[in-house]
Amino acid sequence: MNAQGCLQILRDVKDAAFATVDEQGLPQVRIIDVMLVENGKLYFCTARGKDFYAQLTRDNHVAVTAVNKEFQMVRLSGTAEKLTEQTCWIDRIFKENPSMNSVYPDESRYILEPFCISNANIEFFDLSREPIHRENFTIGNHKEQKKGYEISDSCIGCGKCKKICPQQCISAGKPFEIRQNHCLHCGLCVENCPAEAIRRRSV
Ligand code: SF4
Ligand code: SF4
Repeated sequence: MNAQGCLQILRDVKDAAFATVDEQGLPQVRIIDVMLVENGKLYFCTARGKDFYAQLTRDNHVAVTAVNKEFQMVRLSGTAEKLTEQTCWIDRIFKENPSMNSVYPDESRYILEPFCISNANIEFFDLSREPIHRENFTIGNHKEQKKGYEISDSCIGCGKCKKICPQQCISAGKPFEIRQNHCLHCGLCVENCPAEAIRRRSV
């Protein structure tokens, strides 16, 4: 898997959940079509009258997620930029997504504004595999965010975490080690470590 592959999953699912923050700082989410994916960028559009548009233009932070039929989930968190060549991009989006013509026939399409996500963190999570599989990617100049847990040198090697991990993704060693690509981030090992040696990973 890579970043483009993750974006392609979002495009293939097409109807993805897009979350923004409203003027009161509250989360808002709705289903939006992923209209186009190319060159490591994701394109979508929305009408100027919608709350979604108002929220994006006030605070362009956006989170997007979708899951496909194979139980592969993609989660993206980044910023959305409004594109300047509006008519050109809307025409391109309609060409790539002909069904849009019945929703916004003729010139009504130009009430839509095109947006592009080119800076983001992307998480890929495959629940169909045993153990589960996860990977992280970035697009643009977004800084990588490390999530989950790691084991520090305070580990006393008791092996309790390895025994209870539901994904069997902890290896013995000095210190013991979490195989990050298979970790659920459930925190069970953290709650059961007698040495408080397991801590959240930081950026
Ligand atoms: S439970 Fe804590 S101390 Fe024991 S092996 Fe795991 S990390 Fe080390
Ligand atoms: S967070 Fe959960 S899945 Fe990950 S290593 Fe700890 S117990 Fe295992």
